[in-house]
Amino acid sequence: MRYSGFRVMKEGFFGQKGWKPAWRDPDPKPEYDAVIIGGGGHGLATAYYLAKEHGLTNVAVLEKGYIGGGNVGRNTTIVRANYFLPGNSEFYSHSLKLWEGMEQDLNYNVMHSQRGLINLFHSDGQRDAFARRGNAMINQGDDAILLDTDGVRKILPYLDFENGRFPIYGGLYHPRGGTARHDAVAWGYARGADQRGVDIIQNCEVTGIDIEGGVVKGVQTTRGAIKARKVGIVVAGRSGQVAQMAGMRLPIESHVLQAFVTEGLKPVIDHVVSFGMGHFYISQSDKGGLVFGGDLDFYSSYAARGNLPMKEHVMDAAMTLMPMIGKARVLRSWGGIMDMTPDGSPIIDKTGTEGLFLDCGWCYGGFKAVPGSGFSFAHLMATGRHHEPAAGFRLDRFRDGVGLMDEEGTGSQHNLH
Ligand SMILES: Cc1cc2nc3c(=O)[nH]c(=O)nc-3n(C[C@H](O)[C@H](O)[C@H](O)COP(=O)(O)OP(=O)(O)OC[C@H]3O[C@@H](n4cnc5c(N)ncnc54)[C@H](O)[C@@H]3O)c2cc1C
Repeated sequence: MRYSGFRVMKEGFFGQKGWKPAWRDPDPKPEYDAVIIGGGGHGLATAYYLAKEHGLTNVAVLEKGYIGGGNVGRNTTIVRANYFLPGNSEFYSHSLKLWEGMEQDLNYNVMHSQRGLINLFHSDGQRDAFARRGNAMINQGDDAILLDTDGVRKILPYLDFENGRFPIYGGLYHPRGGTARHDAVAWGYARGADQRGVDIIQNCEVTGIDIEGGVVKGVQTTRGAIKARKVGIVVAGRSGQVAQMAGMRLPIESHVLQAFVTEGLKPVIDHVVSFGMGHFYISQSDKGGLVFGGDLDFYSSYAARGNLPMKEHVMDAAMTLMPMIGKARVLRSWGGIMDMTPDGSPIIDKTGTEGLFLDCGWCYGGFKAVPGSGFSFAHLMATGRHHEPAAGFRLDRFRDGVGLMDEEGTGSQHNLH
């Protein structure tokens, strides 16, 4: 079924009786050409591009819960291509281009809004670092504008410019950055994959990975054994646990990251704004809620909920940057499990087991990567070759130290990235 304005009107006239479920609810088949473990954004996008770009349609996505229940539906929805290091820069640039065509491609409204992202800086040193980053972005073909204090004041008049401790020196403006409705991205890819024949199987937890003579043979699940020639592990915060089923110990720690939303307000923040002296970033959703987040909770956990000290830290930063936020009431907060690598950059690679592939380590920045990761991982699974923009995301960089991509320059400590 194609979605269109005409269809919405027609259904309006005829009692909304013609809509069909966005994807089927099939039982698992005994065998597939490829199985994707994890129905988050990355898993669903991988299945979609396997079918669309490589004609591989005998594919199943196995999701232990429901589509959109993981990090893909828990993030603060920021989409950007403002990375600095070679390896990351071209990957996120490619991903943003896929975002820009996503709604037409999927025939699904993911509410992608390129409202512009502004990273604030508060010292001469930070200005230099952002100027370099902006130049790298422009060299990559993306957009970046360095604003001075007045430039920021014009766009974001509500910030506290008189703050003695953290004066605002300017900001790096990325006009093509923005937000999207996160769970709609999962639904759009699920629908697109389903239309091409992919089976999306919810409430189906993978409990084991079958390997014989170094070759993957399939998976064990709560709904029975499923044979597969290729298996992709795309389970974000659970990557360490699922990889262990194949005897792998990954360079990944799982940490909690929280987010917050206020009551709905009239439009007040029309960009994405990120504080440079504390971990705090904010945008306003189409429903009017101020959506914001901060840093990791700084301890490893598989609990998708956070703790009070980080809440206090984030609220502190919010009040420092924009005291007006003190009038808004926070309605909800939640947490997600982040798959942190030692250099803060992801992994898209084969494993030591033939037919077994790995896509993980997206840390707290994997929402914007959904289309790029799905595209590149599908390419790797289908062809056995790395897709060029993602060629740096190899697993062995953590063994030999060659090609590490420490975007934040914080060293090899998971919780500092
Ligand atoms: C609070 C918060 C804010 C964030 N903000 C941003 C942001 O602004 N911008 C940005 O780019 N990124 C952001 N991120 C990061 C981003 O959301 C993640 O990196 C990304 O969503 C992870 O990929 P995914 O969507 O595939 O993960 P998930 O949606 O978590 O998908 C993994 C799926 O695997 C399933 N699974 C696990 N184990 C099994 C199993 N054994 N069998 C079957 N299925 C299994 C899980 O149930 C889950 O649905 C944020 C994350 C959080 C938590």
